[in-house]
Amino acid sequence: MAGRVGMVSLGCPKALVDSEQILARLQAEGYQLVSSYQEADAVIVNTCGFITPAVEESLQAIGEALDQNGKVIVTGCLGERPETILSRYPQVCSVTGSQDFAGVVEAVHRLLPPERSPHRRLLPSAPLTLTPRHYSYLKIAEGCNHTCSFCIIPKLRGLQVSRDAAELLGQAYRLVASGSRELLLIAQDSSAYGADLRHRPSQFQGRSVPADLVSLVDELSALGVWIRLHYVYPYPHVDRLVERMAEGKLLPYLDVPWQHASPKLLRAMRRPGSGRQLETIRRWRQICPEVTIRSTFIVGFPGETEEDFTQLLDFLQEAQLDRVGAFPYSEVAEADATAFPDQVPEERKQERYARLMALQQGISRAKLAAKVGRETEVLIDALPEAGVAVGRSQADAPDIDGSVRVRLSQPARVGDRLRVRISGASDYDLEGVSLSALPWPLGAGQLV
Ligand code: SF4
Repeated sequence: MAGRVGMVSLGCPKALVDSEQILARLQAEGYQLVSSYQEADAVIVNTCGFITPAVEESLQAIGEALDQNGKVIVTGCLGERPETILSRYPQVCSVTGSQDFAGVVEAVHRLLPPERSPHRRLLPSAPLTLTPRHYSYLKIAEGCNHTCSFCIIPKLRGLQVSRDAAELLGQAYRLVASGSRELLLIAQDSSAYGADLRHRPSQFQGRSVPADLVSLVDELSALGVWIRLHYVYPYPHVDRLVERMAEGKLLPYLDVPWQHASPKLLRAMRRPGSGRQLETIRRWRQICPEVTIRSTFIVGFPGETEEDFTQLLDFLQEAQLDRVGAFPYSEVAEADATAFPDQVPEERKQERYARLMALQQGISRAKLAAKVGRETEVLIDALPEAGVAVGRSQADAPDIDGSVRVRLSQPARVGDRLRVRISGASDYDLEGVSLSALPWPLGAGQLV
């Protein structure tokens, strides 16, 4: 055995997928993956550097790994700023930037020499995921071509590079064959998938599949599992995706990070495709009435007046979004907005954040209360006690949305799909009683 490696993975699902790739390479080389500092011969910390609190959290995680283990390899977004790390922790063994998987593996080799087995490379590499076995993130592109003024992701992760459709489909088929029942498609801007490839086709199972999101979704729908889209920007072609939702090919769930509703602030933020929000929402709901719309918003962006903020509240009241996340604006070193005039005092940001969340809490409560008495599909995530399961409806993405607590009337396993009658609702979660099991229609998923 080559050595035992631990991983601390911080940040968004995109960073989690990077951690999975690093660990899959190390596992294929014979390293053992362990889950505690004490068992590990070395620890990799995959950092986030998106906003100031995330930088601080990453630095604290590095400090903890140094205290608890001592041999620490740092990678990820904050690794693009080695001076920030090395000035506080000169003793870390190596610092590499995001996506530099080879650099991390080399750093591990230096600390823990690899096994020199001639047979090792003949072993098949199984998909490795850090999520529970029944759902997986599928990163369809890396990087971003936009220039949002509060964000440095394009500086950290570079311009968008999409993966060929055939490569993604191959990975999706393997994930379903190894137990995934929900695939969550992610990128910085999923709706721009394939633009950098000029939508070039690639060959999959004798078919030519273009690198565009609609074609990819059409192919993935043959797998018979839940397909969920994250980080979609409201471009016109999104209507065709909403049509797929109405046809049942894709979960009726749209995660659209609008960030604000004031045209003045959207211009200052340089957000792509954000105009005519209410009109767009109405059109999507016409195409697919059951669509769940999730969005995130920044409050207290530089220059935000009380009038701008009221515009945002009015929009939320009118739009009745199903899920809303909000963040008080936080400075990011090197982002253009950091130098903007009219920064909003911290107290006012917090006060606006509380007002927004109170409004949305009422909307969410009423929306969930309206579901009581209805039937819904639930994917089981956990079985916390006898006769009880906790899962998610199609309207709930893992980690960010609510859950459904289900009283079971038949045996169930994690990853099962149940028909559930909703019997109660709180501000963000539901409860219900299972009616029947819904076998997965694993069409092409069984062919692997
Ligand atoms: S779309 Fe904007 S916020 Fe999102 S990664 Fe790209 S630049 Fe950053």
